Amino acid sequence: MKTYNVAVIGATGMVGQRFLLLLCSHPWFRVTALAASARSAGKTYREAVAGKWAFDCQIPAGYADMTLYDAERDAEKIAGKVDFVFCAVNLDKEQTKRLEEKYARLEVPVVSNNSAHRFTPDVPMIIPEINADHLAVIPAQKKRLGTKRGFIAVKSNCSLQSYVPLLHPLKKFGLLRAAVCTYQAISGAGKTFDTMPEILDNVIPYIGGEEEKSEKEPLKIWGSVENGEIRLADAPVITAQCFRVPVSDGHMAAVFASFRDAPSEREILDAWVSFRGEPQLLVLPSAPAQFIRYFDQPDRPQTRLDRTEGNGMSICAGRLRRDGLFDYKFVGLSHNTLRGAAGGAVLLAELLAAKGFFD
Ligand code: NAP
Repeated sequence: MKTYNVAVIGATGMVGQRFLLLLCSHPWFRVTALAASARSAGKTYREAVAGKWAFDCQIPAGYADMTLYDAERDAEKIAGKVDFVFCAVNLDKEQTKRLEEKYARLEVPVVSNNSAHRFTPDVPMIIPEINADHLAVIPAQKKRLGTKRGFIAVKSNCSLQSYVPLLHPLKKFGLLRAAVCTYQAISGAGKTFDTMPEILDNVIPYIGGEEEKSEKEPLKIWGSVENGEIRLADAPVITAQCFRVPVSDGHMAAVFASFRDAPSEREILDAWVSFRGEPQLLVLPSAPAQFIRYFDQPDRPQTRLDRTEGNGMSICAGRLRRDGLFDYKFVGLSHNTLRGAAGGAVLLAELLAAKGFFD
């Protein structure tokens, strides 16, 4: 496989830092530019993240002394140095859309963690194991943008990665509806225990905008490509409550599901453990060999013990049992800054590279 040069836009943030940890030893992708806001531009990476480097390990050698670009002002310079960019910025929706479209129009593909373009009809929102076929809308998007190689592809919100991958293999049993309650880590808000002390000994039953995303985004992921756009699915219907809990990383979900023809427990377990998506078939570098890992122990998965399963890219499941109100209930777990953010974006970029979208 050839290697591709990449920039990380938003490199100083929680997700940006994760990108650098994942990319420092990546076999296909080489970071040749780092960018953030005008506040960080001109500083070395080490200076810009002083006091906010969120990991126990050192900043990877090779990045610490790189000088940060201003993502907006220096876009042309960055475009000249890279084959594509990862984008994870803390900006409002309109500013984020403008920034991402600026790079796409400079003929640089954008692999985004941001929510701004998730409901743009010709922008694919991808969980690589589930809807790789949605990449088929990219030619229509390029036509709209007037580009030859520039486009935007996004990953979904982190919360739903703890339950949509588990519901997806069950759709064949006539999945009608699901109720989910998520227990989400503070890194999902770009925070650590130092920067979010109010979470200690506490649960906060509100995460702005999260429940709407958790209910609506799955319908785009399960949608179909029609006339150069993604048409949203109208089922299965999901209702969600999202809580912030005092854990550093890892989003857990309690899930209840109803079916038209309820399967047996054995059928559900078989559907989970045998499920493979394109990343497994293509043996992409970040793809977990086992996408869904089921735990038989009654007290697993646990956030701290199991969030790094499959290098943080597997989805953990457990506690599958019959329910008196719905048909079944179970627990899901995924790592929010790995599978749910930087890792999911790297896997999406690997899928795009393998399918020739960066050439
Ligand atoms: P964060 O820790 O607050 O970092 C924000 C980043 O955006 C910083 O690098 C910041 O640079 C940069 N930035 C701010 N204004 C900018 C501008 N005008 N131009 C360029 N860069 C600018 O946020 P985060 O948690 O990493 O999240 C980043 C994005 O990923 C958000 O859209 C978030 O919703 C999404 N996301 C996060 C998670 C998660 O688990 N954390 C999961 C999925 C998706 P400075 O340091 O210079 O200010």
